Order: sequence, then C-alpha cells, then structure tokens
Amino acid sequence: MAQEITAEDIRARVRKLLEEAHPDHVDQFTFRGKQYDHGLAWVHFPEGYGGLGISPGFQAVVADELAKHARTNYEDMMVNPIGIGMGAPTVLTHGTEWMKKNLLRRIFTGEDIWCQLFSEPSAGSDVAGLATRATREGDNWVINGQKVWTSFAHISKWGMLLARTNPDVPKHAGLSYFLLDMQSLGVEVRPLYQMTGEAEFNEVFLTDVKIPADHLIGPEGEGWKVAITTLMNERSAIGGAGVPRKGSGSIGVLMNLWRSREKSGFAPESEVLMRERIAKLYIESELLRITSQRARAARKAGNPGPEGSVAKLVQADVNKRIWECAMDVLGPASLIYEPGYARRRPTSRAKESRTALAKYQFLRARANSIEGGTSEVMKNILGERVLGLPGEPRSDKDVPWKQIPRNG
Ligand SMILES: Cc1cc2nc3c(=O)[nH]c(=O)nc-3n(C[C@H](O)[C@H](O)[C@H](O)COP(=O)(O)OP(=O)(O)OC[C@H]3O[C@@H](n4cnc5c(N)ncnc54)[C@H](O)[C@@H]3O)c2cc1C
Repeated sequence: MAQEITAEDIRARVRKLLEEAHPDHVDQFTFRGKQYDHGLAWVHFPEGYGGLGISPGFQAVVADELAKHARTNYEDMMVNPIGIGMGAPTVLTHGTEWMKKNLLRRIFTGEDIWCQLFSEPSAGSDVAGLATRATREGDNWVINGQKVWTSFAHISKWGMLLARTNPDVPKHAGLSYFLLDMQSLGVEVRPLYQMTGEAEFNEVFLTDVKIPADHLIGPEGEGWKVAITTLMNERSAIGGAGVPRKGSGSIGVLMNLWRSREKSGFAPESEVLMRERIAKLYIESELLRITSQRARAARKAGNPGPEGSVAKLVQADVNKRIWECAMDVLGPASLIYEPGYARRRPTSRAKESRTALAKYQFLRARANSIEGGTSEVMKNILGERVLGLPGEPRSDKDVPWKQIPRNG
C-alpha cells in the first residue's frame, strides 16, 4: 500500500468514513473511533493502529478533506493533546502489544485523557535529575514522590510517569518509565492556578502508589530513552500543533480581529504600521507552517528528530508577538476582564468569542517559551545536535545520582 497510495485515495477514504459516520450525526467518540479504524487517525502509524503506514505528509490531506465536508469542533490538539501528541507515539515505539491494542484507539477518540508526570519541583529543564522513587515489591512497583506542572492530571485516566529505579548509577541510567492509572490509591492531584484564571495544571503527590510490573514502558533502567521519544514528540506537537491550514490558528484570529476592528480606532499612519506588522506576522506564520510540514513529512512514525525544537522555538516567539499585536488591535478594550475570568478548572476548551480568545491567548502564550522545554534549552539542543557546537559542561554526567548535591 505504501508505494501506490495517492492523495485521491486518501480523499476517497475520508468520504467513505463520512458516509459511515458523519460528525453531524454521531458523537465525538464514535466519529473518531471510525476515523481510527479507517487508518486516518495518524496515517504514518502502522495499519491496525490507527494508520496506513504511509508518509505523515498525507495527514494534511485528511485534515483538508474533513474541513471541506465536516465541520468538527474537536481538532486533535483540543481533544487530548498530551495523549495524542506524546502518549500515542511513545506507546507505539516502546509499548507492549497489550498497550498498543488497548490504549491507542481510546487516546485518539479522547475517551482516555493522558498526562505527563515528568517535571518535579527541583527537576524541570534537568528532568533526568528527578527524585521520585520506584521500588520493586513482588509483582508491583511502589512509587513515592512529587510531580508538578502536570497539565490535565485532574481529568486524566493515564499518566506517563518517569521515576528513579536505581539511585546508584548516573542520573540518566537510573530512570524507568511507567504507565500510571491516575485513579490508583495514593495519587493526589491539587490544582495550580495560572494568570489566565484557569487551573489547567496541577501538583501531583504520589504516596505508596502501586503500579503493576507489566505497566513498565520499555525495559527497567531505560526510561530516559523512552522519555526522549515523548519529549521529541512534545516539541513537534507544540511547535506545529495538529496539521495547520494556511491562515488558520493564531494568525487567522488576528487577521479576523483586524478586519472587524472599529475603523475610527486608528489614525491613518497607525493603520499603515499595523498592516505592515500583521503582514510580517503572517509571513512568519506561513514560514513556520511550511517548515513544520516539511519536518513532519521527513519524520519516521513516532520518532521526530531535533527539527521539532526549531518549530517549538520559533512558534513560542511568533505566537507571543501575534497575541501582543491582537491586544494592540483591540486597544483599550483589551484591558477589560471577560466574564468568567474568575478561577475555573477546564475539562475541555471553552467556546469563546474572538475577543475573549485573544485576551486569554495573550496571557496563555507567556507559557509557550517554558512548556515542553524552555527556549534556552531548545537553543542548547539545536546548538549541539543540529549545528554541532561544543556541548555544555555536564559535571554530573558520570556521577552516581545519589552523590549529586541537590536541594531537599
Ligand atoms: C503551561 C505549562 C504546562 C506544563 N505542563 C507540564 C506537564 O504536563 N508535565 C510536565 O512534566 N511538565 C510540564 N510543564 C513543566 C515544564 O516542562 C517546565 O516548566 C520546564 O521544563 C522548565 O522547567 P522549570 O520550570 O523547572 O525551570 P528551570 O529548569 O528551573 O529553569 C529556570 C530558568 O533557567 C533556564 N535554564 C535551565 N537550564 C538551562 C540550561 N542548561 N541552559 C540555559 N538555560 C537554562 C531556563 O531556560 C529557565 O529560564 C509545564 C510547564 C508549563 C509552563
């Protein structure tokens, strides 16, 4: 199939899917379940696992054809961003057969929301230095520790947990990767409120939590290798979320705000400057979109390379400038709080007016250069892995983890 398939074949498959289950007539889970069964969830995944084993470039054809014939309000990144962007490729690359059969479809439909339990109070950029311990007791692993900034933990069924199974070896070598049932006894999730007014992320306390031994993802002690798959996919997912269409996403909202602005609001000379600023942002967004598409087309199923870091680094900067510009388009109205700003605990992306969305995104975009690895860390990765510059000094690289000085 991989050799012969054409864009027209993919369009025909999408139309067949829509005949069987149209989003106007069935719920999200049914529609997306059928999409998975037709191999149109992640076309580059193998057949039987939501894909067709073809180039990921064809995913854009699926997105375009769906946009033409079916208006859905559940784009991938809104349904289950961590499960779809990071959990699925990790399970595909390192999971057991049981995991692939039982987890992938429910990730794609959004029936099971996923979260990522990597960061800790003293281990963010240096995540390999983490302190959460996993010790083997009979058929279980027993987990004790604390995670932080865990997005969607409050609505998750499964967590991707990185924990230390051996403190006597250097930090990267002593980690293992677990599939954690978030409803297990001893998992306590507490909200952390952001300046957007939302508590999208959480602190997670793990006290004597039992994980069955067959919920290890990858071999014991090779958690870092598995985590790299998750992190590389996270960067690609954040940098080029979904398969963006030309002029869609943040830049599309900005252009619509500009078109519908109060005509009298700007002096003629300011109009010219604003037009130039928006045109420049449009060009940058388009360059980012095309670069992300090229990177996506080049990557193997489940395993993007450092190119994801390029998109993430640039996206963080462009996105911040787009929403800053949106605030200038709104003028003084940008200073007014929207009703509903008060603390909320989202279970899904709220439907908002364009103005409310812009104000929310202006605040939310501050996190773009931190989440999924900071922009400074992206520059380190690109410097070392793409440009071949000398690596940072890493004095703790060969030292047993338990001998590395740390706080607390
Ligand atoms: C909105 C949001 C959602 C998140 N969701 C999750 C999640 O679901 N799961 C999860 O596990 N984590 C999540 N995180 C955590 C995120 O991955 C970390 O915040 C990030 O990796 C940075 O770690 P830190 O906050 O500990 O900062 P630190 O690592 O302490 O960094 C502090 C500063 O030092 C700089 N710095 C650190 N090391 C270097 C270096 N080697 N070279 C140059 N500069 C350096 C950083 O760039 C930064 O400016 C989320 C964060 C945000 C903002």
